[in-house]
Amino acid sequence: QPEHSEITTCAYCGVGCTFKAEMRGEELVRMVPWKDGKANHGHSCVKGRFAWGYASHRDRILKPMVRDKISDPWRETTWEEALGRVASEFARIQSTYGRRSVGGITSSRCTNEETFLVQKLIRAGFGTNNVDTCARVCHSPTGYGLKTTFGTSAGTQDFDSVDDSDVILVIGANPTDGHPVFGSRMKRRLREGAKLIVVDPRRIDLVRTPHVAAAHHLALQPGTNVAVLTAMAHVIVTEGLANEAFVRERCDVAEYAEWAAFVADPRHSPEATSIHTGVPAADLRAAARLYATGGNAAIYYGLGVTEHSQGSTTVMAIANLAMATGNIGRRGVGVNPLRGQNNVQGACDMGSFPHELSGYRHVSDDATREMFETMWGRPLDSEPGLRINNMLDAAVDGSFKAIYIQGEDILQSDPNTHHVAAGLAAMECVVVQDLFLNETANYAHVFLPGSTFLEKDGTFTNAERRIQRVRKVMTPKNGFADWEITQAIANALGLGWSYRHPSEIMDEIAALTPSFANVTYDLLERMGSVQWPCNDDHPEGSPIMHVDRFVRGRGHFVLTEYVPTDERTGARFPLILTTGRILSQYNVGAQTRRTDNVLWHEEDRLEIHPHDAEQRGVKDGDWVRIQSRAGETALRALVTDRVAPGVVYTTFHHPLTQANVITTDYSDWATNCPEYKVTAVQVAPSNGP
Ligand code: SF4
Repeated sequence: QPEHSEITTCAYCGVGCTFKAEMRGEELVRMVPWKDGKANHGHSCVKGRFAWGYASHRDRILKPMVRDKISDPWRETTWEEALGRVASEFARIQSTYGRRSVGGITSSRCTNEETFLVQKLIRAGFGTNNVDTCARVCHSPTGYGLKTTFGTSAGTQDFDSVDDSDVILVIGANPTDGHPVFGSRMKRRLREGAKLIVVDPRRIDLVRTPHVAAAHHLALQPGTNVAVLTAMAHVIVTEGLANEAFVRERCDVAEYAEWAAFVADPRHSPEATSIHTGVPAADLRAAARLYATGGNAAIYYGLGVTEHSQGSTTVMAIANLAMATGNIGRRGVGVNPLRGQNNVQGACDMGSFPHELSGYRHVSDDATREMFETMWGRPLDSEPGLRINNMLDAAVDGSFKAIYIQGEDILQSDPNTHHVAAGLAAMECVVVQDLFLNETANYAHVFLPGSTFLEKDGTFTNAERRIQRVRKVMTPKNGFADWEITQAIANALGLGWSYRHPSEIMDEIAALTPSFANVTYDLLERMGSVQWPCNDDHPEGSPIMHVDRFVRGRGHFVLTEYVPTDERTGARFPLILTTGRILSQYNVGAQTRRTDNVLWHEEDRLEIHPHDAEQRGVKDGDWVRIQSRAGETALRALVTDRVAPGVVYTTFHHPLTQANVITTDYSDWATNCPEYKVTAVQVAPSNGP
């Protein structure tokens, strides 16, 4: 029987389910989905419910470790020595190579308060804006695209809003695996009669949802999202289906006219577009008509939109469609990024990008900087800092020398593994703060043991901008919560921080961030959760954004010219590899593979169409070698018509899969988000890994 319990928030995906963590002493005995959780209403999936055993796993590192060279063995040490080493090394490196020779990476797995402190340490402590976040490799195009078109870098709706949708367009997302609790909610609405459009190279489960009124599956060639969306816009404009009254009232009318003329060009017609997208023109027309005329139409999207060389363009093409049809600003409509990690939204909100302070305000803005300088008592750099990929480039070139990485395994999760390794190996001081000795830690000089979400207080912000409490249910096994470790580093540098509880960090966030102005732990206690913006204009938060006007004023239409990726198929690499997730596992499996959920997933498989398999003499279950221009790996084949001929697909949850050994260097033109979703490969029979 449990002896005590706390209400807390799942630390896996961006749905942000609320659970009651039931404890016996220091032992977690059960996670019970909480009926009053506003994101999950008492539901959960197999990750949040069962995959928490990693918190007590024997692989956890609980003592700080140091070494002089990465070829040396680790030596356990005291916190005092480890923190002193970090402070003295960063000070030495800055005095030798200059202020901008160091930087840091915040984690979307950590709390808002922890993320805020890391970026504060880098900006105010080290005096540089060289701070970035793992959102760089997933949803940075969402930030750019939605800020450009609507004025703020966030989804427009709450999850409950889907109950009023008549049409649901899912593009580049697989909600029943990636965001299961919301995926179930979506399925319920579809069974009630809402109509479904899926834009995805693969036949995801939603396409076969029983009792769905209409399902258009646009099985496009990977990398052609922009062409498909622009063709849909072509149909909407040329067939007179746009909501011109909405456009006149809410958007920039001159821009709309220019955009309408652009999309109406015959080269964007479904007939012209179907040649390179592979989607039949009749399906493109039918989908566009349904989206524009089917009632309340909502768009949900995921990494199949953002992780492309035109990721930001695709986000803006989605926003264009919503504005042109008036599907913004009320329940049942909107543009909704399904965030992968639990706190991607929060990490971005907290100022983790090198060009933005919290609340998405540019570092070059004098008034904003002055406000932070006054509060922090330190001068701030007005130049944007380096992105993760730029830090690694600079390390290889010899001008970037030290990095502090909290809760992120860049060697596994970032593209071009060999380049990441070269960058890390070239640095004089790499500090990794994490639960386990991850792959990145192979290149570290100091390892600081991190804490799990069960061991700390704080907040996460989910995909619907909902700020929710994380509550400490057990004593940190390493001795400290992550925010306390960052504070200790700051104090070893002489910064004199004195936060006693994360609520005090939230008070500082609120004082410096207009969209969080009224957020306090008392308010969260009273209301359970609150969706930003939460300020004097919206004292109880904002379930739906852009209701009467866009945050930027008038909606901004952007011309979205389709530019094919530079990653081309050919005789040597004739197939396109794309990737995704399964329900029971999470990302590279660092946590879920250290729980019983591992029993549901023995290995990642390569899905290949029967036609392509037969051509290569590959049978179901055979080992195959997957070779790209960047490298190669081996997997077992799963022969299935879920993928179209010419397309292969895998998940990336098992460490041996090494998907990023074969992915390319191409990235989104605006944000450098890697193009993980399009890699030209050859597949051939193999004897095994
Ligand atoms: Fe956790 Fe996401 Fe599953 Fe909810 S849907 S329990 S937030 S992993």
